Amino acid sequence: MRGVEVVEQHAKSVINAVAGMPFSWSINPYRGCYHQCRFCYARRTHTYLEEDGVNNWGSKIYVKVNAAAVVRTELAKRSWKREPVAIGTVTDPYQPLEGRYRITRGILEAMRDYQSPANLITRSPLVVRDIDVLQALARVASTHVSISISTLDEQLAREIEPTVAPPRQRLRAVRMLADAGIHVNVALAPVLPHITDTAASIDAVVRAARDAGAAKVWHNTLYLHDITRDSFFAYLREYKPELIAQYAREYRGTYAPRAIADRIDTEVDAALAQHPARSIERIRSQAVVQLSLI
Ligand code: SF4
Repeated sequence: MRGVEVVEQHAKSVINAVAGMPFSWSINPYRGCYHQCRFCYARRTHTYLEEDGVNNWGSKIYVKVNAAAVVRTELAKRSWKREPVAIGTVTDPYQPLEGRYRITRGILEAMRDYQSPANLITRSPLVVRDIDVLQALARVASTHVSISISTLDEQLAREIEPTVAPPRQRLRAVRMLADAGIHVNVALAPVLPHITDTAASIDAVVRAARDAGAAKVWHNTLYLHDITRDSFFAYLREYKPELIAQYAREYRGTYAPRAIADRIDTEVDAALAQHPARSIERIRSQAVVQLSLI
């Protein structure tokens, strides 16, 4: 990780309340992300620290070194209602620094001890290091892991996700998690119009995800706002200059035109119908069993 400035921080709070999203709470053990995906919507969070979200997103990373201890304190509060917490919404909780700091692991251990449900999202196969903790957590609280895979094309993946492990390694991680009984999903995200949105590309990811044991495959279509727009258009200038005019025309706002988003939804639905989930024995938490008995 030459050229990366690491800034250690002591956070006052770690579990954040979230509004306007499908989840109410989030945890992000890091700020910034070594993976540097060109389409990353989280880049704007670097500007909150007055950092450059286009050029410094992967080269200056803040590490919340006390995050696991703070989470323990927050989970111990009587007011904590054990609502599901999304881990890794604006940074990858298993980016390379996690190999050294083990902060995400500490957070999962705390959630296991306090029986608190977790939904974790990552692009990194490093998540398999923590299969033991994830299994223990899954036995006491609802636990879901999503691994993001945008394409199976390794050359294209290197262009759009420069320092992420190749798709085949991520699929191996999906298989290992599924074999361990963990509820693992694949996030086909984001789908990039005119780049990864062919029926063949979508079908290939869905088929491979299902073969590896993914319970669900969910997707979203690229959206571009301020900093992410700058980063993504820099990518287009470098690798896909022939698409610049089309993107400028179609992405006048943040989202893809409705017709394109609808077509992608239809292609994903068709692939899902073609490749149903395999029947796999997964760990069911006590909480889920109790609920089903009520
Ligand atoms: S792994 Fe996630 S947080 Fe990190 S750069 Fe890629 S999209 Fe952004």
